[in-house]
Amino acid sequence: MNRIPSDKPPFGLEPKQVKQLVAFTFDDNAYSGLPGSGGEGGMKFILDLFAEHKNHDGSPIFGTFFLKGNNIDNNPLEDDSFVKQIWHRALEEGHELEMHTYSHPHGLDVDWDDVPAKRVPIMSTEDWMAEHEKCYSVLEKPYDPTKKDSGIGLERSKIVGFRTPYLEYNDNVFTSVQKLGLKFEAAVEEGWQNDRHGSNELWPYTLDNGSPGETFVAEDFYASEPLIGKHPGLWALPMYVIIAPPDELCEKYGTKPGLRDRLAAENQYFDKETGKVTGMDWTAWFEFFMSEDDAFATFAYTFDLHYEGNRCPYFLGFHTDIYSEKYEKYDLEDADPARLKAHGPERRNFVRRLLEYILTKPDVQVVTAKQMVEMLSDPEAGLKI
Ligand SMILES: [Zn+2]
Repeated sequence: MNRIPSDKPPFGLEPKQVKQLVAFTFDDNAYSGLPGSGGEGGMKFILDLFAEHKNHDGSPIFGTFFLKGNNIDNNPLEDDSFVKQIWHRALEEGHELEMHTYSHPHGLDVDWDDVPAKRVPIMSTEDWMAEHEKCYSVLEKPYDPTKKDSGIGLERSKIVGFRTPYLEYNDNVFTSVQKLGLKFEAAVEEGWQNDRHGSNELWPYTLDNGSPGETFVAEDFYASEPLIGKHPGLWALPMYVIIAPPDELCEKYGTKPGLRDRLAAENQYFDKETGKVTGMDWTAWFEFFMSEDDAFATFAYTFDLHYEGNRCPYFLGFHTDIYSEKYEKYDLEDADPARLKAHGPERRNFVRRLLEYILTKPDVQVVTAKQMVEMLSDPEAGLKI
């Protein structure tokens, strides 16, 4: 099907006639959080948190987990058997498991010395196909955590979506995703356009005519051609920007006024006028060094913009690893630990507060990415209130 990019809900419905769909998505998933694995939190924390909550209609809260295959095939940071156990638990409990490559390669060579920076695809479609194949092959092996050469018993046919690592999407990766017959890709950025303000984001669309979000980024930020052409029928489930609340609304969301000033002090490229930030938890914690309260205020305010605006689905682009005690030990890379304002317990508290805040609102449903595509494709699949 062809869903044209639009800020109107599908099927001719008005915003107040549709549920506010929310998808919690988690990439990589290297740390189980299981006893004996060397660090609490991680994926176990998220699965336990979801198990404690329900949607208003009594349906379970399911997450969408984009799995990096080599995390269960010689994971250098945790014994593979723990990670297999927690991935398998997620599968058994009904969560959605999707692909995020085997080895998490970069898709673009970005030359930051050039102004504007050049973005050049570095993997061919065949290179991407080889990555996908390796990922499938480790996931589909029968589950047996006591054996080295085992997987989680996830059938290929159950995998319907993909997120490109580092959000470095381009035509080569999308062509490979289409060759596999997958239904959606979940990395395209949306919401940077000057006329988008959180309350009027473009609903998820198919890439029959490319991506307006990427076209804006290409032309405005990079003065170049967009990285995405036409991929008929392939759904883009966008990574929407998050928006920090302006001063007059900070207290309403539980944080001190001056949030936009604080973010500008951390990063020069932050625009205090729009308050927009890339919609991933990593960006909030390790690029803008938000406190728990600032992160909560930003994500909760953005949720309300969607909810009180055109009810465009709300995506949380998260990482279970960030909610593990191991993250600060192994993954900080260039981030200066002295700048962190939130550590494992505060970051975990943030996820709980955000989920519980979202669930206080009527007409909200937490769904998986696959459920969302179904609800956007079929008027009888439950989008309408
Ligand atoms: Zn990733």
